[in-house]
Amino acid sequence: MSAAQAGSDMPILIAGAGIGGLTAALLFGRAGHPVTVLEKRTRIEEVGAGIQLSPNASQVLVGLGLGPALGRAAGEPDRLLVRRGMSGARLVAMPLGKTMRERFGAPYYVVHRADLQTVLLDAVRSLPNVRLLFGRSVTSVDQEGAEAIVSVTEANGPETYRGGLLIGADGLWSRVAAAIGDQSEPDFTGFVAWRGVVDAEKAPPPFRRQETGLWLGPGAHVVHYPLRAGKLVNVVAVVSDRNAEPGWSRPGASDQLRRRFGNWSPELKALFDSVPEWQVWSLFDRAPRTSWTSGRTALLGDAAHPILPFLAQGGAFAIEDAAVLAHHVKGKPGDVPAALAAYAAARRPRAAAIQAAARRNGTIYHMHDPFAFARDLVMKRIGGDGLMNRYTWLYDWGPTR
Ligand SMILES: Cc1cc2nc3c(=O)[nH]c(=O)nc-3n(C[C@H](O)[C@H](O)[C@H](O)COP(=O)(O)OP(=O)(O)OC[C@H]3O[C@@H](n4cnc5c(N)ncnc54)[C@H](O)[C@@H]3O)c2cc1C
Repeated sequence: MSAAQAGSDMPILIAGAGIGGLTAALLFGRAGHPVTVLEKRTRIEEVGAGIQLSPNASQVLVGLGLGPALGRAAGEPDRLLVRRGMSGARLVAMPLGKTMRERFGAPYYVVHRADLQTVLLDAVRSLPNVRLLFGRSVTSVDQEGAEAIVSVTEANGPETYRGGLLIGADGLWSRVAAAIGDQSEPDFTGFVAWRGVVDAEKAPPPFRRQETGLWLGPGAHVVHYPLRAGKLVNVVAVVSDRNAEPGWSRPGASDQLRRRFGNWSPELKALFDSVPEWQVWSLFDRAPRTSWTSGRTALLGDAAHPILPFLAQGGAFAIEDAAVLAHHVKGKPGDVPAALAAYAAARRPRAAAIQAAARRNGTIYHMHDPFAFARDLVMKRIGGDGLMNRYTWLYDWGPTR
């Protein structure tokens, strides 16, 4: 690699075109680097479900100029309403929408995953210096001098790519992480997420509001929010389940879900009944990896630290990672390993805190009485503003702060 290639002409390789990989491609592409994204899938198709993007993540995307496109694709519910799952009793309402923007300087979006992906892909494809290559599965990683070397399998045979930096954004079962020395498997958490989307006009009227709902009950919780300007309702039901099935998703039988939620609020069960089909996901977790970087390779997103969805932060945190990584590489263009070490050092404490907070929420959301009774009293006493204050550390964030 020539000396000039230590700067913004240094080629960047990215394994994985998920939320984290595409955000990194945009950030490094905008900084002028030639970027190659290697994605295992032959075409990108997102799961039919929504995602919440809190201000800590949305401000990165808005900073990349995606505000108008996200403004068209995403919604901003007015509030988060927390209820008791059995009775439907209201516990606390935390303002979202305008309040989030005013308080944290960026929106709290809810968006269909396919729409978020379209926004990211459109932006990436508009950059002539970014190549998106599908059907490329990374198998091994090497380093020679100032170059990271990636081997991939492709339909026509093996291929090799070289770059000054390799970003492993290849998710929970990361090949890049394994290639740089961490072959540990993620652990099943005992939680299973049921996901479905229903046309708003078919959902019971109370679920058509511009509102995110969170229902808490023994051994389970439910989240719902509107998508596509209120035309769809996204529903996620998380239950404790001992049967692990690795991999992404499988179809779920609605009568099984109905039985599991037999004694829950009839209002909520009516919502379940309106959902035409369910996909079930076993939730896996691991401690943040001991090593996030090796030479010229860095991990980000789920590849480095999956986050249970009970804080709606896994995707958000992958976006944060990409922004911090780009910031450090820009700050130390002549010394990539030092930039990567600074990135990992900057991210570790926050990753550990967010992972722990998400796990804690899993315990709190699924409490049985009498602990649930005490939880509900505390929630009522804290109130909506108090709840938001508890998350200031999470939402009030910037890559250079
Ligand atoms: C039920 C549920 C609800 C959630 N809700 C939220 C939410 O509201 N908000 C939020 O922020 N997060 C949420 N999350 C978490 C979020 O979806 C993930 O944390 C996020 O998608 C991780 O992004 P990523 O880019 O790191 O990895 P991924 O999205 O897993 O992307 C990895 C990419 O790498 C590719 N890949 C894998 N192996 C290879 C290989 N060997 N070579 C090349 N490419 C490869 C994959 O095909 C994929 O495209 C939720 C998760 C679940 C399960």
